[in-house]
Amino acid sequence: MAGNPEQARILNRCLILTQLKGGKALSRVELSKILDLSKMTVSVIVSDLISEGLVAEVGEGEAARSGGRKPILLALSKNKYVIGFDIGEATTSVALSDLQGNVIDGCSLSTSKDKTPDCIVRQIVEQYRNLVEANNIDESTVIGIGVSAAGLVDKETGNILFSPDFNWKNLNLRNLLNLRIGQPVTIDNCTRVMALGETWYGVAQSSVNLLYVNVGYGIGSALMIGGKLYNNNSEFGHIRVTNKDVSCHCGKEGCLEAVASGYAIEKAYHQAKGGRGVWNSAKDIADMARNGDKDATGIFNDAGRYLGRSISMAVNLFNPDKVVIGGGISLAEDLLMTSLLEEYRRNTMDVIRDKTLLEVSTLGQKAGVRGAVALALDSFLE
Ligand SMILES: [Zn+2]
Repeated sequence: MAGNPEQARILNRCLILTQLKGGKALSRVELSKILDLSKMTVSVIVSDLISEGLVAEVGEGEAARSGGRKPILLALSKNKYVIGFDIGEATTSVALSDLQGNVIDGCSLSTSKDKTPDCIVRQIVEQYRNLVEANNIDESTVIGIGVSAAGLVDKETGNILFSPDFNWKNLNLRNLLNLRIGQPVTIDNCTRVMALGETWYGVAQSSVNLLYVNVGYGIGSALMIGGKLYNNNSEFGHIRVTNKDVSCHCGKEGCLEAVASGYAIEKAYHQAKGGRGVWNSAKDIADMARNGDKDATGIFNDAGRYLGRSISMAVNLFNPDKVVIGGGISLAEDLLMTSLLEEYRRNTMDVIRDKTLLEVSTLGQKAGVRGAVALALDSFLE
């Protein structure tokens, strides 16, 4: 328990906010019962939260069976906001949400071709101001910004240690944005952010232990253990899945990313066509497979098999309640899942498999920006 009254107050405040997460409406009495806090403690904190505009009284609940007054329900405010940014190499998406997590507005724009920090920061600030203006919001009501970025990101310091897409090293994007925007900024690696987005908006809302696999041009992964995102790196894409000498950009051979990523699919197709002709995108190759191209179909089948094999290793290892497959590949579910599930079932212990559900993300292109909104909301609630 917290050591002094001020620490205890901050902790209890977080506990109350967290109970109201996601638009849940509870009365003061319910909060005090759930959190095992005195009614007086809850009452004092709630009146602070109401005067700060973070919590609102939203109506009346059911009266107790024994009778008495109907309790007043409390919920997180719809008049305070967070903004999420998903900064991709090609596209930057932004979304505005209230504190309950209702996304109100958002858009996507091409990311600046000039990838210098100055230029990218300017673009983000511009998108921020446009969104605030378009929605007629006072800037003081925006209480946090969440940012999803590719590469090695240290969430604690806000430092991007390495971003291959932007060619940044040791760039503290959080501080740069914080200086320009003035609101608290939280930044994390895109795959961890997408996993978090699944727990708020997607298919992992009731998950406690989760493996999230982001299969795009590369392959990333994130783990959630006991309801908390695991902040260490999780390089699922670099598990060796074949003895074939297929080199991976990490310097090793036979990695999952070298045989099942969007890039691997494009490379395999190009080689199947004798290394001549145009370089087709994974999306085009998917369409060719759907139109009966045997090479394309075989390549997606192989990629599915490798994914199924590596997912079975992770599931045998930590038996999550759910595995979510997201990223660009989630749009090729029809081409991958048969071979993926076959190989997964073949290699995962039955008793373990019974306790793990495997699902494909339904958030599509919105996964990153929804995750960024969730990141800002989570930082506020913590
Ligand atoms: Zn590798």
